[in-house]
Amino acid sequence: MPEPQTASRHVLDQIAALPASDRPLVICDVDEVILHLISHLERYLTANDLIFLRHSYKFHGNIARRGDETPLSNDDVRRHLVRFFDEESHRQEMVEGADTGLARISENHEVLLLTNLPGAHNKPIRETLLAGFGITYPVLTNSGPKGGAVAALSAGRPAPVVFIDDSPTNHTSVHASLPSATLIQFIADDRFRANVTPEPHIDLLTGDWDETASFIATTLQEA
Ligand SMILES: [Mg+2]
Repeated sequence: MPEPQTASRHVLDQIAALPASDRPLVICDVDEVILHLISHLERYLTANDLIFLRHSYKFHGNIARRGDETPLSNDDVRRHLVRFFDEESHRQEMVEGADTGLARISENHEVLLLTNLPGAHNKPIRETLLAGFGITYPVLTNSGPKGGAVAALSAGRPAPVVFIDDSPTNHTSVHASLPSATLIQFIADDRFRANVTPEPHIDLLTGDWDETASFIATTLQEA
Protein backbone atom coordinates (compact mmCIF):
# COMPACT_ATOMS: atom_id res chain seq x y z
CA MET A 1 0.00 0.00 0.00
CA PRO A 2 1.49 3.40 -0.94
CA GLU A 3 2.18 6.10 1.65
CA PRO A 4 -0.50 8.80 2.04
CA GLN A 5 0.32 11.64 -0.33
CA THR A 6 0.35 15.36 0.31
CA ALA A 7 -1.30 17.71 -2.17
CA SER A 8 0.87 19.88 -4.41
CA ARG A 9 0.95 23.67 -4.01
CA HIS A 10 -0.75 23.89 -7.42
CA VAL A 11 -3.77 21.92 -6.15
CA LEU A 12 -3.87 23.61 -2.72
CA ASP A 13 -4.06 27.04 -4.41
CA GLN A 14 -7.06 25.89 -6.46
CA ILE A 15 -8.76 24.44 -3.36
CA ALA A 16 -8.20 27.70 -1.47
CA ALA A 17 -9.99 29.57 -4.27
CA LEU A 18 -13.17 27.45 -3.92
CA PRO A 19 -16.11 28.92 -1.98
CA ALA A 20 -16.31 27.46 1.56
CA SER A 21 -18.84 24.64 1.89
CA ASP A 22 -19.67 21.79 4.27
CA ARG A 23 -21.96 19.92 1.85
CA PRO A 24 -21.23 16.23 1.22
CA LEU A 25 -18.67 16.03 -1.53
CA VAL A 26 -18.40 14.00 -4.72
CA ILE A 27 -15.06 14.33 -6.51
CA CYS A 28 -15.26 13.17 -10.11
CA ASP A 29 -12.60 12.56 -12.75
CA VAL A 30 -13.24 13.64 -16.36
CA ASP A 31 -11.40 11.40 -18.87
CA GLU A 32 -13.16 8.05 -19.51
CA VAL A 33 -15.77 9.04 -16.88
CA ILE A 34 -17.49 12.22 -18.13
CA LEU A 35 -15.72 12.46 -21.50
CA HIS A 36 -14.75 9.51 -23.67
CA LEU A 37 -10.99 9.04 -23.83
CA ILE A 38 -10.21 5.52 -25.04
CA SER A 39 -12.28 5.80 -28.24
CA HIS A 40 -10.62 9.12 -29.14
CA LEU A 41 -7.19 7.81 -28.23
CA GLU A 42 -7.69 4.73 -30.44
CA ARG A 43 -8.53 7.01 -33.36
CA TYR A 44 -5.40 9.08 -32.66
CA LEU A 45 -3.27 5.91 -32.41
CA THR A 46 -4.65 4.55 -35.70
CA ALA A 47 -3.95 7.85 -37.44
CA ASN A 48 -0.36 7.67 -36.15
CA ASP A 49 0.11 3.99 -37.09
CA LEU A 50 0.10 2.95 -33.43
CA ILE A 51 -1.96 0.35 -31.52
CA PHE A 52 -2.84 -0.70 -27.99
CA LEU A 53 -1.12 -4.06 -27.38
CA ARG A 54 -3.86 -5.15 -24.92
CA HIS A 55 -7.17 -3.73 -23.72
CA SER A 56 -5.46 -3.49 -20.38
CA TYR A 57 -5.75 -0.47 -18.25
CA LYS A 58 -2.43 1.23 -18.70
CA PHE A 59 -0.76 3.34 -21.36
CA HIS A 60 2.93 2.93 -20.56
CA GLY A 61 4.22 -0.37 -21.96
CA ASN A 62 0.95 -0.91 -23.81
CA ILE A 63 1.29 1.20 -26.98
CA ALA A 64 3.35 0.04 -29.97
CA ARG A 65 3.88 0.66 -33.68
CA ARG A 66 1.52 -1.39 -35.82
CA GLY A 67 3.24 -4.67 -36.77
CA ASP A 68 5.86 -4.34 -34.00
CA GLU A 69 5.17 -5.81 -30.57
CA THR A 70 7.85 -3.70 -28.86
CA PRO A 71 6.15 -1.11 -26.67
CA LEU A 72 7.07 2.55 -27.11
CA SER A 73 9.27 4.05 -24.39
CA ASN A 74 7.51 5.84 -21.52
CA ASP A 75 8.89 9.14 -22.85
CA ASP A 76 7.38 8.50 -26.28
CA VAL A 77 4.03 7.57 -24.71
CA ARG A 78 4.07 10.77 -22.65
CA ARG A 79 4.88 12.80 -25.77
CA HIS A 80 2.00 11.23 -27.67
CA LEU A 81 -0.43 11.83 -24.77
CA VAL A 82 0.49 15.52 -24.64
CA ARG A 83 0.02 15.81 -28.42
CA PHE A 84 -3.22 13.85 -28.23
CA PHE A 85 -4.71 16.22 -25.63
CA ASP A 86 -3.53 19.27 -27.57
CA GLU A 87 -5.16 17.98 -30.77
CA GLU A 88 -8.26 16.20 -29.46
CA SER A 89 -9.36 17.56 -26.07
CA HIS A 90 -11.61 20.24 -27.58
CA ARG A 91 -13.78 17.59 -29.27
CA GLN A 92 -14.04 14.70 -26.81
CA GLU A 93 -17.56 13.26 -26.72
CA MET A 94 -19.63 13.01 -23.54
CA VAL A 95 -20.18 9.63 -21.91
CA GLU A 96 -23.90 8.84 -22.19
CA GLY A 97 -25.84 9.99 -19.13
CA ALA A 98 -22.96 11.91 -17.50
CA ASP A 99 -24.87 15.22 -17.60
CA THR A 100 -28.10 13.89 -16.08
CA GLY A 101 -26.28 11.58 -13.64
CA LEU A 102 -24.19 14.44 -12.27
CA ALA A 103 -27.25 16.71 -12.11
CA ARG A 104 -29.01 14.07 -9.99
CA ILE A 105 -25.97 13.67 -7.73
CA SER A 106 -25.62 17.45 -7.32
CA GLU A 107 -29.09 17.71 -5.75
CA ASN A 108 -27.65 16.32 -2.51
CA HIS A 109 -23.91 16.70 -3.01
CA GLU A 110 -21.41 19.29 -4.07
CA VAL A 111 -19.69 18.04 -7.23
CA LEU A 112 -16.07 18.95 -8.02
CA LEU A 113 -14.17 17.74 -11.09
CA LEU A 114 -10.55 16.71 -10.55
CA THR A 115 -8.70 16.03 -13.78
CA ASN A 116 -5.11 15.19 -14.74
CA LEU A 117 -5.03 17.19 -17.93
CA PRO A 118 -1.60 17.89 -19.45
CA GLY A 119 -1.00 21.53 -20.46
CA ALA A 120 -2.41 24.46 -18.48
CA HIS A 121 -3.72 25.94 -21.77
CA ASN A 122 -6.09 22.96 -22.11
CA LYS A 123 -8.04 23.72 -18.91
CA PRO A 124 -10.25 26.53 -20.33
CA ILE A 125 -10.81 24.42 -23.48
CA ARG A 126 -12.04 21.56 -21.31
CA GLU A 127 -14.25 23.89 -19.22
CA THR A 128 -15.85 25.26 -22.41
CA LEU A 129 -16.43 21.77 -23.80
CA LEU A 130 -18.02 20.57 -20.53
CA ALA A 131 -20.18 23.72 -20.27
CA GLY A 132 -21.49 22.93 -23.76
CA PHE A 133 -22.84 19.68 -22.28
CA GLY A 134 -24.38 21.59 -19.35
CA ILE A 135 -21.64 20.36 -16.97
CA THR A 136 -20.55 23.46 -15.08
CA TYR A 137 -19.05 22.14 -11.81
CA PRO A 138 -15.67 23.59 -10.78
CA VAL A 139 -12.70 21.99 -12.58
CA LEU A 140 -9.47 21.44 -10.64
CA THR A 141 -6.33 20.24 -12.41
CA ASN A 142 -3.91 17.83 -10.79
CA SER A 143 -0.89 15.85 -11.88
CA GLY A 144 0.11 12.43 -10.60
CA PRO A 145 -1.90 10.25 -8.19
CA LYS A 146 -4.89 12.03 -6.67
CA GLY A 147 -4.79 10.97 -2.99
CA GLY A 148 -3.25 14.18 -1.66
CA ALA A 149 -5.72 16.40 -3.50
CA VAL A 150 -8.74 14.32 -2.41
CA ALA A 151 -7.62 14.28 1.24
CA ALA A 152 -7.15 18.09 1.17
CA LEU A 153 -10.56 18.58 -0.47
CA SER A 154 -12.25 16.39 2.15
CA ALA A 155 -11.29 18.68 5.08
CA GLY A 156 -14.44 19.92 6.82
CA ARG A 157 -16.75 17.69 4.76
CA PRO A 158 -19.01 14.98 6.12
CA ALA A 159 -17.78 11.42 5.53
CA PRO A 160 -17.86 9.57 3.28
CA VAL A 161 -16.45 11.67 0.47
CA VAL A 162 -17.21 9.92 -2.83
CA PHE A 163 -14.43 9.60 -5.43
CA ILE A 164 -15.19 8.60 -9.04
CA ASP A 165 -12.29 7.76 -11.39
CA ASP A 166 -11.29 5.18 -13.98
CA SER A 167 -7.67 4.79 -12.92
CA PRO A 168 -6.70 2.01 -10.47
CA THR A 169 -3.60 4.05 -9.56
CA ASN A 170 -5.73 6.99 -8.46
CA HIS A 171 -8.05 4.76 -6.43
CA THR A 172 -5.10 3.13 -4.64
CA SER A 173 -3.70 6.59 -3.89
CA VAL A 174 -7.03 7.93 -2.57
CA HIS A 175 -7.56 4.80 -0.47
CA ALA A 176 -4.12 5.37 1.13
CA SER A 177 -4.69 9.08 1.81
CA LEU A 178 -8.39 8.97 2.75
CA PRO A 179 -9.42 5.42 3.77
CA SER A 180 -12.99 6.55 4.56
CA ALA A 181 -13.65 7.57 0.94
CA THR A 182 -16.29 5.70 -1.05
CA LEU A 183 -14.56 4.60 -4.26
CA ILE A 184 -16.38 4.23 -7.56
CA GLN A 185 -14.26 2.91 -10.45
CA PHE A 186 -16.06 4.19 -13.55
CA ILE A 187 -14.74 3.03 -16.94
CA ALA A 188 -16.87 3.98 -19.94
CA ASP A 189 -15.23 1.56 -22.40
CA ASP A 190 -16.78 -1.93 -22.09
CA ARG A 191 -13.66 -3.78 -23.26
CA PHE A 192 -11.30 -2.02 -20.85
CA ARG A 193 -13.80 -2.35 -17.96
CA ALA A 194 -14.14 -6.09 -18.66
CA ASN A 195 -10.36 -6.48 -18.23
CA VAL A 196 -10.29 -4.86 -14.77
CA THR A 197 -10.33 -6.87 -11.58
CA PRO A 198 -11.31 -4.30 -8.98
CA GLU A 199 -9.12 -3.99 -5.87
CA PRO A 200 -10.85 -4.86 -2.56
CA HIS A 201 -11.14 -1.14 -1.66
CA ILE A 202 -13.35 -0.44 -4.73
CA ASP A 203 -17.00 -0.09 -3.65
CA LEU A 204 -18.49 -0.12 -7.17
CA LEU A 205 -17.09 -0.91 -10.64
CA THR A 206 -19.36 0.49 -13.33
CA GLY A 207 -19.64 2.21 -16.69
CA ASP A 208 -23.19 3.41 -16.15
CA TRP A 209 -24.22 6.85 -14.88
CA ASP A 210 -27.70 5.76 -13.72
CA GLU A 211 -26.14 3.05 -11.59
CA THR A 212 -23.57 5.52 -10.25
CA ALA A 213 -26.19 8.10 -9.22
CA SER A 214 -28.39 5.42 -7.58
CA PHE A 215 -25.42 3.94 -5.71
CA ILE A 216 -24.46 7.37 -4.33
CA ALA A 217 -28.06 8.08 -3.26
CA THR A 218 -28.09 4.76 -1.37
CA THR A 219 -24.69 5.39 0.22
CA LEU A 220 -25.84 8.82 1.41
CA GLN A 221 -28.99 7.42 2.99
CA GLU A 222 -26.97 4.83 4.90
CA ALA A 223 -24.30 7.30 6.02
MG1 LIG B 1 -9.63 9.33 -16.12
